[in-house]
Amino acid sequence: MKRAARATLTRTAPGVECRGIDEMNSRRVRLTVDGSVQGVGFRPYVYRLAHALELHGFVRNDARGVVVEVEGSTRALERFIQRLPKDAPPLASCGDIVREDIAPLGSREFTIDESVPSREVRAQVVPDSATCDECLRELFDPMDRRYRYPFVNCTNCGPRFTIVRGIPYDRPLTTMAAFVMCADCRAEYDDPRNRRFHAQPNACPRCGPRAWFVDAAGHVAPLGDARDAIEAAAVALLNGAIIAVKGLGGFHLACRADNDVAVQRLRARKVREEKPFALMVPDLAAAHCLVELAALDEQLLNGRERPIVLARRRHEARVADLVAPRQRCLGLMLPYSPLHHLLLADVGNPLVMTSGNVSDEPIVYENGTAIAGLATIADFLLLHDRPIECRVDDSIVRTIAIGGQHQAQMLRRSRGFAPTTLRLPVATPEPLLACGAQLKNSFCLVRERDAWLGPHVGDLANYETLQSFIDGVTHHEALFSVTPRHVAFDDHPEYLSTKYARARIDASPEQLSLGVQHHHAHLAACLAEHGECGPAIGVIFDGIGYGLDGTLWGGEVLLGDLTRFERVGHLRAVRMPGGEAAIREPWRMTCAWLSELSPGVTPALPGALVGQVRDAKWRSVARLVRGGIASPYTTSMGRLFDALSVLCGGPPDVSYEGQAAIELEMMADEEEVGRYDVQLCGEDGALMMDARPLVRGAIADLDANVPAATVAARVHNGIVDATTRICHLVAEQRDVNTVVLSGGVFQNVLLIERTAEALLAAGLRVLVPQRVPPNDGGIAFGQAAIAAARAASSTAIPIT
Ligand SMILES: [Zn+2]
Ligand SMILES: [Zn+2]
Ligand SMILES: [Zn+2]
Repeated sequence: MKRAARATLTRTAPGVECRGIDEMNSRRVRLTVDGSVQGVGFRPYVYRLAHALELHGFVRNDARGVVVEVEGSTRALERFIQRLPKDAPPLASCGDIVREDIAPLGSREFTIDESVPSREVRAQVVPDSATCDECLRELFDPMDRRYRYPFVNCTNCGPRFTIVRGIPYDRPLTTMAAFVMCADCRAEYDDPRNRRFHAQPNACPRCGPRAWFVDAAGHVAPLGDARDAIEAAAVALLNGAIIAVKGLGGFHLACRADNDVAVQRLRARKVREEKPFALMVPDLAAAHCLVELAALDEQLLNGRERPIVLARRRHEARVADLVAPRQRCLGLMLPYSPLHHLLLADVGNPLVMTSGNVSDEPIVYENGTAIAGLATIADFLLLHDRPIECRVDDSIVRTIAIGGQHQAQMLRRSRGFAPTTLRLPVATPEPLLACGAQLKNSFCLVRERDAWLGPHVGDLANYETLQSFIDGVTHHEALFSVTPRHVAFDDHPEYLSTKYARARIDASPEQLSLGVQHHHAHLAACLAEHGECGPAIGVIFDGIGYGLDGTLWGGEVLLGDLTRFERVGHLRAVRMPGGEAAIREPWRMTCAWLSELSPGVTPALPGALVGQVRDAKWRSVARLVRGGIASPYTTSMGRLFDALSVLCGGPPDVSYEGQAAIELEMMADEEEVGRYDVQLCGEDGALMMDARPLVRGAIADLDANVPAATVAARVHNGIVDATTRICHLVAEQRDVNTVVLSGGVFQNVLLIERTAEALLAAGLRVLVPQRVPPNDGGIAFGQAAIAAARAASSTAIPIT
C-alpha cells in the first residue's frame, strides 16, 4: 500500500526527483537507550538492524548508554523501534528508551560513531560472562587460530567488570589497553559483521595476554611433554599437586577433589579446618555424578553468571570427605573462562577450587602477591598477564522451594552478578553510599533508583579486607560517577564499615550520616528487592546485630516499612558469656541457655560435652552468666541454634561462622514432624518467644536416648511453629498480611522452607530474599533502600 501511495505522489508532483520524494517521506528519530548496553555488542547489533531495515543514521556510546539516530520510512522506523529492545544481544539489557522525533538530515548511510567523552557518566558496567558456545568451539578446534588460546572471547562473552578502569567501556579504559591488536584481530574488531566487532578484550595468541606456569619460588617451571602451561598445570594436578590458578576475578587454589591427601594438605596449608570447599567440574554430566540437580539448578550452573551452586550430594559421589565435612550439599561450578575450560578438559576430573587467599584475607588477584602470599600453600602457580582491575569472588546460589515453587536464592553475590543494577522502589533525591556490615561485607552506591551492590568484600576484621573495601568504594564511585551525599551505616559502633563511614563524614561534613539498625536493614533489603515499600512483618533470625537498646539482637520480629520499624516480638534474651568468644565457642551458649532453666544454680555439664570442655571452665562460664560480667544480653536465634547443636553433639568450638547452627540443620531428620514448644508471652508491649520449654524438651529427649537427628528436627519444627503463631498474631492485630523472612539464620533451608510453608498455610503472604543474600551480604542494599526512602520522604534524618 505504501508503495502505491508513493507512486501516486510521484505522478502528482512532476519535477521533483525521486530522492526528494524520499526525503519528504523520510522521518528521523533519536533514541536514547540506557541500561546495560555498552561492551555487549549493542552498537554492531544496532548497525545490523538498521542495515536490515534500510535505515540511515548513526549509533554511538555516550555517558548514559547509547544514542541512536535513524532516518527512513515511517514503517521501517516503527519496526526498528519495536525490535530494538527485543532482539538485543545476550549480554545486553535495555533500560529506558527515550524517543525524540527530529528533523531528517538526509543521511545516506548508517555509521558507528566514536564515543563522546563526557563528565557525567551514567552508563552501566556489565558483569563478566562465561565463555559462549562459539568461542568454545574455536578453543577446541585444532584448525582455529585461537586453538587452546586461554583468552578467547567475543562480544557475547568474556571479561567486563573485572577489566574496566573507566567509562565509556572502550579498550583504552580497560586492562587490555597494553595489548596492541594484530592485523587479524584488528580486522575482526573493525568489521561490524564480525562477532568480535568492538569486543574490547579481543585478542589472539599473537597479540594478546598469555599464561605461564611457575613453581612456588616464581621460577618458570619446565613444561616437559605438556603442550602448554595449562596442560602442565593439569598434569601436576593429576599428580596431586596444589596449584594457584589466576582466573577472571582473582586466584583460586585448586587440587583434585577425589584425592584425600591433596585436600588434607590444602586444608592444613590454608588453615581452613572445616569450612566446605567449592568444586569445579568439567561439565553438566560430571555435575550430575556428584549431586542431585533440579532443572533450576542446571540452569543456574549453566547460566552465563556461572555461580557456585549448592546441591544435594549423591551418596556415591567420588569426592574426598574433607571437601565438605558433615554437609548434605556440595558447592559446584562449571568452567567460566577459556582457561578454566582448558584446565578442566585436560584434568578430566572434578577439582577443588577455593578462593586463593590466606585464611580470612581477601582473594589475591595480582601475580606478585600470589607468588609472595600463596606460594606457602600452592606447589605451583598458573599465571597470566592480563591485569585484574577489580577482584571478584565466585558467587554462591542455591534453590529453595517456597509454596511448592523452586526459586533461586543468592548466598554470595559477586562474579557474574556484580555490578548489575538493582532497582530501588524509591528514588533517592541525592546520591548515597551504604557501607554494609562487618561480616560478608559489601557496599552499595545509589543514584535515583539505581543501586549498585558491590561485589562481596568479606570480613572487614583484617587490614587487607578493609583496604579492599575502601579501594572498592573509591573504584565504584569513579566508575559510576557517584558522589554520595548521604552515607548510611550500621548502628554498631565497632563495625569497621561504621568507623569508615564516620571518618568519611568527619572529613567532609557536607555528607549526611544515617545510622541504620541492622535487622531493619535485613527487612528493607528483602522488601526492596521485591520492589515493595512495606509495611510487612519482618521475621529476622540472625547471628547478632546491634539493637536499639544496646543489647545484641538476632531473633527479632519487626513490623516496618522502608522508613521506620517497630520491634513487635523477639526471642527471650539470654547472656552471651564472654561476648564474641561465645561465637567461636558455641558451648558457652549451651551453658547460658541451661543456666536460664535453673537460675542461680550451676547447670551440670551436659553429656555431649563430657571430655570436650573441662569442668572448671564450664563452671567459670556459668559464673559469667550469673554475674553478667562481659556477657551482654542477646536475643540471637543463631546463638540458640548453636546452643542446641552442641547439646545434640555438634562442635563445641567452631572454625567458621555459623558452623554449629549449620551442623544442627545437617543432623535433622527431614521426615520427623514432632516439635518442642516455644511459649509466647507479652513483654513491654512486644511478644516474647520463650525458648526455655524447647531447650527443656530437647534435653529430656536426649536423656531418653532419642536420636540427635530427631531432636534436631523437633527443634526446627518448634521454631517454625512459634514463628508462625507470632506472625499470625501480629498480622491480625495490626492488619498486615505480608511476612518477610530474612537474616543469616534463614540460610537454613529446612527452616526457611518449613516456615514459609506454614505461613502460607496460615493465609499470609511470604517474601524471601532471592537476588540479594539473606545474610549480611544484603545489609548494604537494605541500608541503601532505607536511606533512599527516608531522604525521599524528607522525614528528619537523625544525625548520629
Ligand atoms: Zn564468545
Ligand atoms: Zn591478535
Ligand atoms: Zn545480620
